[in-house]
Amino acid sequence: MSTSPSSVEHHRLVVTGAGIAGVGLGVRLRQAGIVDFVILERNASVGGTWFEHTYPGCGCDVPANLYSYSFARNPGWTRMFPGQDEILEYVRATADEYGVTPHIRFETEMELSAWDEEAGVWRVRTSAGDLTADMLISAIGATAEPDEPDVPGLQAFTGHRFHSARWDHGHDLTGERVAVIGTGPAAAQFVPRIQPDVEQLVVFQRTPPWVIPHVDRPVPWPERQLYRALPFLQDAQRNALFAIYESMGVGFRGRTAMIAPIEAIGRAHLRRQVKDPELRAKLTPHYRFGCKRPILSNTYNPALAAENATVITDAITAVDADAIVTADGTRHVVDTIITAIGYKYGRSLLAHRIRGQDGRTLGEVWDQSPKAYLGSAVPNFPNMFILLGPNSIGINSVIFSLESQIAYVMSALEAMDRDGLTRVEVRREALEGFVDEVDRRSAGSVWTAGGCKAYYVDDTGRNFGLYPGFAASFRRRTRRFDAAPYLVEHTAAGKVAA
Ligand SMILES: Cc1cc2nc3c(=O)[nH]c(=O)nc-3n(C[C@H](O)[C@H](O)[C@H](O)COP(=O)(O)OP(=O)(O)OC[C@H]3O[C@@H](n4cnc5c(N)ncnc54)[C@H](O)[C@@H]3O)c2cc1C
Repeated sequence: MSTSPSSVEHHRLVVTGAGIAGVGLGVRLRQAGIVDFVILERNASVGGTWFEHTYPGCGCDVPANLYSYSFARNPGWTRMFPGQDEILEYVRATADEYGVTPHIRFETEMELSAWDEEAGVWRVRTSAGDLTADMLISAIGATAEPDEPDVPGLQAFTGHRFHSARWDHGHDLTGERVAVIGTGPAAAQFVPRIQPDVEQLVVFQRTPPWVIPHVDRPVPWPERQLYRALPFLQDAQRNALFAIYESMGVGFRGRTAMIAPIEAIGRAHLRRQVKDPELRAKLTPHYRFGCKRPILSNTYNPALAAENATVITDAITAVDADAIVTADGTRHVVDTIITAIGYKYGRSLLAHRIRGQDGRTLGEVWDQSPKAYLGSAVPNFPNMFILLGPNSIGINSVIFSLESQIAYVMSALEAMDRDGLTRVEVRREALEGFVDEVDRRSAGSVWTAGGCKAYYVDDTGRNFGLYPGFAASFRRRTRRFDAAPYLVEHTAAGKVAA
C-alpha cells in the first residue's frame, strides 16, 4: 500500500467481490508475490453466492470434484453435490489457508469506480472511504442482484414476500398458502423442501425446465480417505467429469443429435414421476435441452404432483393486497410470495458503478448487450478486467472459467511488469472480432435457436453470457496475455501505441 500525493490510499489492484472469483484471484496474486491489493466485499463474509443463498436445499449442481479450485482440491467433500454450507466453508478455508482473508475489507461496498485518465489511476469510492488503484478488477459475479418480476401491484401485496436469494429464515411457512414465482434451479431445489410443510403451494411457471435424474450420493468416509491417500484418483474423476461436460457442450452448440438421448431421459423421468397427464403436459419442455439451465432433481416433479401443489401456467397480470391475479382472471390468494426469477445479469446496477475514460458507465456502454474481449476487457475501460464477464461461462464448472480469466489477469500483470506497460486498453476492433466470432458460433446453438429465452440471452436473442466453445479452448486463449489486441502505454514513451 502507498498513499498518493492527495493522501488517498493507493494499491496496485483493487478487486471488488470476495466470492469464488475474488478469493481465487487473491490466491494467485499472493502466489506470484503480489501483496499490494485489497478486495472490497459488501458482506461480512467471503463466499458471495454461497454466503448469500441459504434457501432450503441450496447446493451446487455440478459435482464438487469439478466445482472446486484446481489449486485446492478437497478430498473431504461429504457429498458428490454438496450443500451451500459445505461450499461456503470450503471458500472460507481457502481464503484463510492462502492468506487472502487479511486483504479483504469486509462490509465495504464499492460505490463508484472511475478512471482518471490524467492520473492514470482508478478512483474508487467505497462505503468506507476512497482508494486509488493502478488496476481495477470486477469480481462481482452474475448473481449479485436478485431480479423481481415486473408485475403491477407487487409492492402492494400485504402478505410476506422475499426473494429466494435472500431467504427469510425468520418467517415460518408452515401451514401457509405459499406462491413461488419462477421455476429455475433455485426453485427446483427449495420447492421439494417446503412443499411438505405448507398448506398450499402455488407455483407460477413461465417455461418448464428440463428435469433429469439427480445422481447425487454421499461420499463415504473410506472413499474420502482414498482420495487423501491417492490424489490422482480424485484428479481422474475430475478429468472424467470435465470431459463429460465438454462433450455436452458440443450438443448444445448445434449437434442436437447428441442431446436427444438426454431429452429422452428427461421425458421418461417425467412420465415415471408425474401420472396426471394434464400436469405432465404443463411440465413438458417444448425447447431443446440446454437452452435454459437444466435441473438435476429426483424430488422436484413429485413435489409439484403432490396433493397440496398447483402449477399455474397462465401469465401473472397483477398482484393485489392478498392475491396473485392471472390472465384468466383467477385470484390466487396466498400468505407469502417467494420470487425466484433469477438475477439482473450483465446490465445490473453494479455495472453502472464503473465509469470509463469517456465518463460513460459500463452499464451505459452495455446498453445494447454486454460485450467484453475474452469476457474480460472492454474498450474505454483501461487497466480493468472482469471476472465472469460476458461470454466467459463455459458449459462446465464456472470455477474452471474463472480460473482461466484469473490466469489471464496474472499474465497481463506479468506483461505489464516485464514490458513497462502502465496502461492497457483493449482495442475496439479486437472486441468486435471476438463478438463476431461469438455470434457466429452461437448461431444454431440451443441457446439462440433452441426455442427458449434464457438469462444469458439478451432481448434481441443474442447470447451474451456463454462462451460458445470448449472450456478448454477458452483456457488456451486466456493462458497468455497478448498485448497486440491492446492499446498500450509504456512508462518511458508515455504514449498510447497506434
Ligand atoms: C444457488 C446457486 C447455485 C449455483 N450452482 C452452481 C454450480 O453448481 N456450478 C457452477 O458452475 N455455478 C453455479 N452457480 C453460479 C455461481 O454464482 C458461480 O459458480 C460462482 O459462485 C460465482 O462466483 P463469483 O465470485 O464470480 O461471484 P459471487 O459469488 O456472486 O461473488 C461476488 C461477490 O461480490 C460482492 N459484491 C458485489 N457487488 C459489490 C460491491 N459493489 N461492493 C462490494 N462487494 C460487492 C458480493 O457481495 C459477492 O460476495 C450457482 C449460483 C447459484 C445462485
